Amino acid sequence: MAVQATAAEHINPYEIALQQYDRAVAYLDLPKGIINFLRCPKRELSVNFPVRLDNGDVEVFTGYRVHHNTVLGPSKGGIRYAPNVDLDEVRALAMWMTWKCALVNLPFGGAKGGVICDPYTMSDDELERLTRRYATEIIPLINPHGDIPAPDMGTNAQTMAWIMDTYSMNVGYSVPAIVTGKPINIGGSQGRTEATGRGVVICMDEALRRDGHNRPSEIAVAIQGFGNVGSYAARHAYELGYNVIAVSDVTGGYYNPKGLDIPDVLDFAAQNRHNLLEGYQNADKITNAELLALDCDVLAPCALENQITAVNAYDVKARLIVEGANGPTTPDADDILFARGVEIIPDILANAGGVTVSYFEWVQGLQAFFWDVEEVHRQLRRVLIKAYDEVIRIRQQHGVDTRTAAQITAIKRVSGATLTRGIFP
Ligand code: GLU
Repeated sequence: MAVQATAAEHINPYEIALQQYDRAVAYLDLPKGIINFLRCPKRELSVNFPVRLDNGDVEVFTGYRVHHNTVLGPSKGGIRYAPNVDLDEVRALAMWMTWKCALVNLPFGGAKGGVICDPYTMSDDELERLTRRYATEIIPLINPHGDIPAPDMGTNAQTMAWIMDTYSMNVGYSVPAIVTGKPINIGGSQGRTEATGRGVVICMDEALRRDGHNRPSEIAVAIQGFGNVGSYAARHAYELGYNVIAVSDVTGGYYNPKGLDIPDVLDFAAQNRHNLLEGYQNADKITNAELLALDCDVLAPCALENQITAVNAYDVKARLIVEGANGPTTPDADDILFARGVEIIPDILANAGGVTVSYFEWVQGLQAFFWDVEEVHRQLRRVLIKAYDEVIRIRQQHGVDTRTAAQITAIKRVSGATLTRGIFP
């Protein structure tokens, strides 16, 4: 599924995150020491721990939790379960969380966690034992006022429930605010599950309207990925009347040039444990690589890092890319797309809806006062549009691409707070 970059191109996500940072920070007149400080992860924990499998064997798993920066507040970020996750990927994702939270003006720093495992091949009982043990191993780093995990690829609300229960059992009382993205019946927020996908579509719709497009049915949208981000993006785009012509997952792409019946696709996926699209009949089968090159107006990569690279950036036909995934476009691809006049709404803006509603969930939990879904949707939109406006203003001010403008906005906030707080001691 992943596309290879050219030999010369960096596809290590951490190197990419640093490259993006170096590009943006060059526009800011900051002391060298502050530039170096914001470049480094604050602390990193690697853990190796045993888990009993259903067949009685014991397997040792490796996990990570990285805090990139905590200047603006407690660090925030998801936990990823994937076979190929490594420390550099977690570092990159933690750094992107710092910029994402700062960009949408949340009082949070950035963190990320990961466990090397394949949730597709593990039973629910094995995943529960793995999650409870991993949570116990990272207890020195997590805290409702210090570092608050959330779901990411391969984890979900149930995973958060196990972490919340494990932490609560360890301290002796219930601590709902230790995680966000938990089930609603234990203190989760209305609107959290769909928030990232919804935010992707809010950003897409805003960009199109600002460009004078007012007829969603005339806009063809291709969405890569049908997990928590892609599936809700498809649903919300369909609800707003957009013509979603293709979706995909690990089993490949599903394409109908006249438009997919998204409720039908969602019903189909809901029939299997991992919500896979394999066997969906009311569409033509294409590959993930073909989806990225489809003749469409909007491309929303909502799956993995490094999907649009120097190799395939010339094949992209969409005029607008909305990044639901973290890090789907490499810097070399950015340059090619910018030169071709393709607009990109970068990940730290386009997918910030998830952490924004995580913030609402954390606030509601700490106050023990819960909002209705309309309020969550309204506040989500307000936060994203405000950030969008600010990015456009900075883009004009510095004459840069949208990703660099978003990074400048975020780095300005974190560096400003660093300078105001001063260097300890
Ligand atoms: N994992 C999500 C992200 O990449 C959400 C993080 C959160 O809610 O803390 O933005």
